[in-house]
Amino acid sequence: MKTLLVLDFDHTVVDDNSDTWVIRCLPGERLPDSVTKTYRKGHWTEYMGNVMNYLGEQNVTPDQIRLVLETIPFTEGMKNLLTYVSRRKDAIDCIVISDSNTLFIEWILRAAGLQAAVDEVFTNPARVDERGSLEVRRHHAHSCPDCPVNICKREVLRRYLSERAEYGAVFYAGDGGNDLCPVACLREQDTVMPRKGYTLEKRLLQPGRPVKPRVVAWSSGQEILEELKARD
Ligand SMILES: [Mg+2]
Ligand SMILES: [Zn+2]
Repeated sequence: MKTLLVLDFDHTVVDDNSDTWVIRCLPGERLPDSVTKTYRKGHWTEYMGNVMNYLGEQNVTPDQIRLVLETIPFTEGMKNLLTYVSRRKDAIDCIVISDSNTLFIEWILRAAGLQAAVDEVFTNPARVDERGSLEVRRHHAHSCPDCPVNICKREVLRRYLSERAEYGAVFYAGDGGNDLCPVACLREQDTVMPRKGYTLEKRLLQPGRPVKPRVVAWSSGQEILEELKARD
């Protein structure tokens, strides 16, 4: 049976937030209050739409955004991990589930020559619209009360797993609060890998939160790689 590696993207594959990295396209590298004030909790995609509109108004082109995004650093050890995974396609499937967007993730992985490692990316769809601005839409509609309106990672993972042959083991590596919900899809033989010192680790450590999978915290992609190899 194959192994599945599920990766979050921001602060997991890359060592920053791709959505906030784009403000480096702006002179002074900051957004005006008129844009930042439009953020409402749980409505990140709508907010990013406003950020993208603003970048468009400032005549920042999608190509400029791409060039800036290509400078985002990968988290230590992640390139090694993805390179290994791309060579073990016979044994390991790898998907990304992220609240970023399709274009950012595609650009960043492609620039690093690592897109072949990832079989599927589940995130908010983005495109360049008629005016030449980036448009980001919600990944899906869902009814989970614990997740942002545009994506519930548990819903994504549950559906993905239901459409595949059973995996011998699933490894889920992430850092954020929205990586907690999908942990409910994992079994005893699976492993949730929270990034050390980040929100997901803290949530998993809260008392009264029994989780089925093994919990192995990581600081570098190398540690995720060692876990995969031990099972491979
Ligand atoms: Mg993250
Ligand atoms: Zn959820």
